[in-house]
Amino acid sequence: MSIDLFVIPVVQLQGVGSQKAEELHALGISTVGELLEYYPFRYEDYRIRELSEVKDGEKITVQGTIASMPSVQRYGRKSRLTSRVTVEGILVTAVWFNRAFLQDQLTPGREITLTGKWDQRRRHLTVAESEFPDRGGAKSGTLQPVYSVGGTLTQSWLRKTMDRALTQYGGLIPEMLPPDLVDKHKLVPRREAIMRIHRPENTREGQEARRRMVYEELFLFQLKLQAYRATHLKQPDGVAHPVNNEDIRTFVGALPFSLTDSQKQVINEILHDMKQPYVMNRLLQGDVGAGKTVVAAVALYATVKAGNQGALMVPTEILAEQHARSLSKLFEPYGIQVGLLTGSLTERRRRDVLASLQMGLSDIVVGTHALIQEDVFFRSLGLVVTDEQHRFGVNQRSILRRKGMNPDVLTMTATPIPRTLAITVFGDMDVSTLRERPKGRKPIKTYWVKHDMMDRVLGFIRREAEAGRQTFFICPLIEESEKLDVQNAIDLHMQLRQALPELPVGLLHGRMSPADKEAAMAAFADGETTVLVSTTVIEVGVDVPNATLMIVMDADRFGLSQLHQLRGRVGRGEHQSYCILIADPKSENGQERMKAMTDTDDGFEISRRDLELRGPGEFFGTKQSGMPEFRLANLLNDFEVLEQARDDAAQLTSREEFWSSPVYGELRDHLQRETRMQGEPLD
Ligand code: ADP
Ligand code: MG
Repeated sequence: MSIDLFVIPVVQLQGVGSQKAEELHALGISTVGELLEYYPFRYEDYRIRELSEVKDGEKITVQGTIASMPSVQRYGRKSRLTSRVTVEGILVTAVWFNRAFLQDQLTPGREITLTGKWDQRRRHLTVAESEFPDRGGAKSGTLQPVYSVGGTLTQSWLRKTMDRALTQYGGLIPEMLPPDLVDKHKLVPRREAIMRIHRPENTREGQEARRRMVYEELFLFQLKLQAYRATHLKQPDGVAHPVNNEDIRTFVGALPFSLTDSQKQVINEILHDMKQPYVMNRLLQGDVGAGKTVVAAVALYATVKAGNQGALMVPTEILAEQHARSLSKLFEPYGIQVGLLTGSLTERRRRDVLASLQMGLSDIVVGTHALIQEDVFFRSLGLVVTDEQHRFGVNQRSILRRKGMNPDVLTMTATPIPRTLAITVFGDMDVSTLRERPKGRKPIKTYWVKHDMMDRVLGFIRREAEAGRQTFFICPLIEESEKLDVQNAIDLHMQLRQALPELPVGLLHGRMSPADKEAAMAAFADGETTVLVSTTVIEVGVDVPNATLMIVMDADRFGLSQLHQLRGRVGRGEHQSYCILIADPKSENGQERMKAMTDTDDGFEISRRDLELRGPGEFFGTKQSGMPEFRLANLLNDFEVLEQARDDAAQLTSREEFWSSPVYGELRDHLQRETRMQGEPLD
């Protein structure tokens, strides 16, 4: 029977009083177990080096013997202590600043270890730290861990406390991974790995320890997802949609275009899931303009045909209205009722919509967050589709799901996620990918121009207008200030109306009333306005195939994925489309983004670069996005380990013994602890 280190409070450790305990708590450390898993983020190198291999200006640690009586110079309250030290037979001048009190200890003949910056030419060592081997010299020759500390906690206090914890409890650290996996990947035992991460003897040891803990971290993460999947999703308690292939064929045959092979394939994958009595949890990823909406429409059609209701949740009202409009048109011939639920409905309209949903008069509802409010009920919700899923948090999606009895879930995203990240974030989802865009789409030509080329930009708008095409003109984004964004849009709208008196120019921004917004959008969609000046409210999803020119003002203020989304508003029909990014050439990180945009219009490549430029945390936005934070693992570098860990976890959870054998007791305990802490299994 092992002792659970996660129930031993840190105050049990010598030197940890209630105040220190509180400060540790602020770092997320309350128990000895948590302390031991508080890893250093780097090491300070105190390993002894030979002078001959040291370069000028390097920080080094050397061992020597004091060769002369030290001298002290004082400048007011400051001082400079100098002593000669023999290192490997060479006479070196060691200099300490403001350490005059060391003078008495620097007796000729005494051994000393010095760490500091080396000046090759003058054979000077500016000492940062020094130790006497005859007094123990604890740091010399070691790699010292550097932890992130806060409050009054110091590095050296934490090191000492960690040492105590390791000495006292290190022996009790349990192995967590099953022996076959430890063998298979030649991993260091857990106990040793944790010891070595805190006190590595050498770099290789530290790396091996890290490799082991990274694998464990990713494996445990995957195990949690897979175990949840195995216990919850694989129960036959979902909605089985008995879909009739003939019905689907008729519906698809009546579409105004023929589906791409990619679309057919993902529709098959989705319908296959929907027919099963298991809950479908599928992610559909496809670049902007790849045609995800029609795929969702087929799935919604299938759920209605099977006697259920479907819900489509989207991030903006404009998008909700657009989808409601196009789905109504699509479903009208089949007598399928499509409702719209947004925050700006009048109370009366809203009550009507809610009532018809609850009574089952409405078959499909399209809406924004308004869909997840408490008083929204369905008669029998069979399928939940969320569009542009990255805009929603994990919780929002699961609330909607709980409005039915385990409805099937289809999640759509236009931010194609590199495969490995998809595995991580959506480890509990199946992934379908739309790989091709509809035929006849020409790549969007993208240009990056300076502000002083506005005349040519205006010429471009005129040329497209003469050819019967339309233009989006996106206003600069002022961070955190919708009000300024709106002002920008209003100003730009005025300017364009003056510069292009012959063309009808529309305006769209977030402060307009819902009715005005809808009117502005509809006027553009119907071709009544040729140019639409807009803030980023149109960023996602908006579909006006006749628009061929996207102009983004101050493009360097936008993130890469956002720019790609904006660009995706054009190139949605058969006409050649263009994207003009107006940006300051001097803006430094803007350059990288502009270059990426002009290099490629492949969303997959864009998101890869975005990830590189921003790192995974920011890439996925808030913590809400469900992106896990790892202690050690770095998703950009530890790709392969992640995939391995996923396969291992999937295999393990599919085995009966995992749920019963004592060999896996530690792992099951861990899973239970995790679930307890989170209160709620993952979405
Ligand atoms: P997204 O994947 O960005 O949501 P949409 O579903 O809005 O893309 O589709 C973009 C445009 O392409 C729409 O106008 C849609 O009607 C059209 N479309 C979708 N599939 C096809 C297809 N197979 N052939 C031709 N046009 C298509
Ligand atoms: Mg879309």
